[in-house]
Amino acid sequence: MSTEQPTSTPLFSELGLAAPILKAVQEAGYETPSPIQAQSIAPLLEGRDLLGQAQTGTGKTAAFALPLLSRINAKAKSPQMLVLAPTRELAIQVAEAIQTYARHLKGLHVLPIYGGQSMGIQLRQLQRNPQVIVGTPGRVLDHIRRGTLRLGELQSLVLDEADEMLRMGFIDDVETILKETPDERQVALFSATMPGPVHRVAKRYLKDPIEIRIETKTSTVDTINQRYWQVTGTHKLDALTRILEVEDFDAMIIFVRTKNATSELAEKLEARGYSSSPINGDMNQAAREKAVDRMKKGKLDILVATDVAARGLDIPRISHVVNYDVPYDTESYVHRIGRTGRAGRKGEAILFISPREKRMLFAIEKATRQTITKMQLPNSEDIADRRVMQFNQQLSKTIESQDLAFFQNVVNDYQQEHEADPLEVAAALAYLVQKSRPLKPVKHVEARPARRERESRNDNSDRPSRREGKPPRRTNGSAIREAEAGMQTYRVEVGREHGAEAKNLVGAIANEAGIDSKDIGRISLQDNYSTIDLPEGMPKDLFQQLRKVWVCNKQLEISLMNLNSPEPREQGDNSERPRKAKRSGKPRTRARDKARRPSQRREAKKD
Ligand code: AMP
Repeated sequence: MSTEQPTSTPLFSELGLAAPILKAVQEAGYETPSPIQAQSIAPLLEGRDLLGQAQTGTGKTAAFALPLLSRINAKAKSPQMLVLAPTRELAIQVAEAIQTYARHLKGLHVLPIYGGQSMGIQLRQLQRNPQVIVGTPGRVLDHIRRGTLRLGELQSLVLDEADEMLRMGFIDDVETILKETPDERQVALFSATMPGPVHRVAKRYLKDPIEIRIETKTSTVDTINQRYWQVTGTHKLDALTRILEVEDFDAMIIFVRTKNATSELAEKLEARGYSSSPINGDMNQAAREKAVDRMKKGKLDILVATDVAARGLDIPRISHVVNYDVPYDTESYVHRIGRTGRAGRKGEAILFISPREKRMLFAIEKATRQTITKMQLPNSEDIADRRVMQFNQQLSKTIESQDLAFFQNVVNDYQQEHEADPLEVAAALAYLVQKSRPLKPVKHVEARPARRERESRNDNSDRPSRREGKPPRRTNGSAIREAEAGMQTYRVEVGREHGAEAKNLVGAIANEAGIDSKDIGRISLQDNYSTIDLPEGMPKDLFQQLRKVWVCNKQLEISLMNLNSPEPREQGDNSERPRKAKRSGKPRTRARDKARRPSQRREAKKD
């Protein structure tokens, strides 16, 4: 195996992490620190403040969690670390990750707190003295104000996805929380972008921070055709299998993040009939070289690799690179796809990217100055066409190259004896040959594409939609107008006199219903109620859930507005009821499908 320029990435064991934390990292199968981890861990261990420009998928959670957990006193019974995150989903995800890294820290409790969950439960959990709190700003502030969360002993505060918190209208809450923390606490602020207000918060509250930005080097990869598939409803493994069916590949390298994942995925592909092998840092040099050698000789078609193991791999046969897990940064993407298109040949690179990781896609395009085109997953017809084509090729090859005299006799005897139609005999034989791989595969249940995907199919681009980035429109006026096409107007029983502001409503609904804040339409604040436009067709369960959401100490008691009558009405199951109101040409969608990012579907949220 030839090696390309060795990198100077430190090992996790060299970074000075506490032993129980290191043990958990090793168990998680992480081979080396990601770039943001390599740069953040040491300064955070020293107690420095940090300003990190990094997006989801770069490994930023471990970048702050590993060092900050290493400094925690698990015996003390007060909150020492607070992480603020913009959404309930992210809070849960971060809390789970921290829990994993802290699994060998005896006595350490991590508590996610977010709106939507009953206060009672949270109060009980807070009484168990968690040392680490991960929460959304609104609910954290609620607890601070009630005196149920005291931050007097806080050592560190992390602001995760600060630009998202700004976009969702939480930046004032974040500042209020910052003011409640002891002066000497350590602050780490992470943000994918640095808009003015985020920068101002950093300037005001961070003391001489170390600034980290993952540099993006550009390299040209002209001979490589780059495509991406947006991870939607379909499982990644199913998507990969479909791609393997129709892509014309010679040899392929599939990148995943962990050593464990290399073995798991290689096993699954083997079980599906692809000759595959893992290649990771746990394998000794001889085993790795053996795998590479087998691939070079055409005895192995797929290598499932981590970045480290694939460093410098030079196998001319590799026609395809699949980024099954997104790379940490653009540099590593460029390195990965450079495993194909060797020596001037053509290569194919496919990137799986979830909606949350979309920024990484744009960053890669910017860094490589190349467009990555969106691909659709092959459907059952594509797969059938491909199988029939391969079958025909095999047939022609066999007719050309084999002595078939004996078989002709066998078929002839059968046909005469049974007076069978020769075409029928041939069809039956084709069926038998392809029994385990039917020429007409069972139809896939196509996952419903996400809203943005549907839009992009119509306009052939997947750039942010018209309203992307724009905050929901707010009006304070009294006139309630008909909602725009595709939206419905709802009434909530919380208004100005309860202290509600538009941002409270957006936060609550975005988090509780998993509705992206940009899909929340016009909000009109009245004295003792408000109206809000939401994507039409809200499922009944979601509606019932939203009714109970608390904002400014009042439940929303959401109801569908009937614009012809001042009285609100109960929501039936919209998805079944034809809508008489003005309709756009757009297909009707259920609000939950339409508005929730797939990753958010698991849980509803609120702040
Ligand atoms: P994050 O950017 O924190 O959301 O992390 C994205 C994903 O990368 C998570 O699934 C982590 O488990 C994974 N991850 C983080 N650090 C590493 C590492 N050093 N090696 C492999 N996977 C990692």
